Amino acid sequence: MSGSAEPTPVDAKYAGEPPCCCGTDPPPPVVLVAGLTHDPNVVMCAVFRRPVELDSLGLDDEYSNSLGYWKCLFDALHFLWLDSNEFEAFAASAFASPSARVHRMGMELASEGNRARRAYYAWFSTTPDGTESIESYAACPHCAGPLSPAWKWEVCERCSVAVPAPQLPAPA
Ligand SMILES: [Zn+2]
Ligand SMILES: [Zn+2]
Repeated sequence: MSGSAEPTPVDAKYAGEPPCCCGTDPPPPVVLVAGLTHDPNVVMCAVFRRPVELDSLGLDDEYSNSLGYWKCLFDALHFLWLDSNEFEAFAASAFASPSARVHRMGMELASEGNRARRAYYAWFSTTPDGTESIESYAACPHCAGPLSPAWKWEVCERCSVAVPAPQLPAPA
């Protein structure tokens, strides 16, 4: 860290957009967002949801390999779910289970990532009938404990889990 509070640009692809806040001191938390992005980097700034360079976190190759493995697993399930075919219910039931391997791995990676910077796993789950992704949560989807607001997220500090903050109603 240079000690400067100047924000640093993260990637040329964001040229023209406001700079990310990650150069600020102290830097904000990160959120592990697998989703179906083509970006292999799943580590996002919690404020702007932009990729954070792994090197800047000082995490080792083993950690980045584990992140890659987890993203493959997440994408495989997510794709089966989106495909809406014979494996849709299977994938939906995996995401709906608080103890599913894909969730456990996400939480483990977030808690390991905490060594570098406060880190949360962006939880993803589906409605009980598996038709939609859940957009808002009344409590932590893992421990049912309270959530606290953090930028565009609500987080469970105990589980290192983040869910999207409830959307504000659109202006009339
Ligand atoms: Zn940032
Ligand atoms: Zn929790």
